[in-house]
Amino acid sequence: MPDEDPLPLSALQHYLFCPRQCALIHVERQWAENRFTAEGRVLHERADLGGRSSRSGVRAVRSMPLRCRRLGIGGVADVVELHDGGRRPYPVEYKRGRPKAHRADEVQLCAQALCLEEMFGTAIEEGALFYGENRRRTAVRFDPGLRALTERTAEAVRAMLDAGRTPPPVHEDRKCGRCSLIDLCQPRRLSHPPAVADWLSRRLQDD
Ligand code: SF4
Repeated sequence: MPDEDPLPLSALQHYLFCPRQCALIHVERQWAENRFTAEGRVLHERADLGGRSSRSGVRAVRSMPLRCRRLGIGGVADVVELHDGGRRPYPVEYKRGRPKAHRADEVQLCAQALCLEEMFGTAIEEGALFYGENRRRTAVRFDPGLRALTERTAEAVRAMLDAGRTPPPVHEDRKCGRCSLIDLCQPRRLSHPPAVADWLSRRLQDD
């Protein structure tokens, strides 16, 4: 594990949103932008400038490189605040939109915390997601359930990337309608085989 290329932290978030989206991006190296991804990119711009700032005795480091050798994951944190004289890292991830029903954003943040715990040699109990729509922070506790889900997701992503196979689409209006890869993925067409294929399959079974 330590010598393998680290799994990008974003892959965990992509996988929980949709395993096929994760494979299209991280196995097939495909990408497309839509309004939602463009808004997310703009929201990240300030964080992506890099550097440090200090407010109320808390230093904030932007675009901090992260790595967890134990789990074989790595990436870049939008912002890591350093509390208690720099001894207590507190990750803050910027997201477009608002808090979601699924746990993909929480898992991505928890993965950052697991990296920081290894790098700083300290336990991290909490971080925050900053959502662009309400422009507020949502605190996230890194409880045992979230930690276990994060580790299971990292294992599942690693297995999918090692296998190098892209799963078939599962079309869901709400999810696919927001996905920037919808034209590449073709979820409606591929999740419902064309009528001629159904007909041919029935004919072959009859013969
Ligand atoms: S269009 Fe739907 S099935 Fe295809 S990658 Fe996006 S979310 Fe997944």
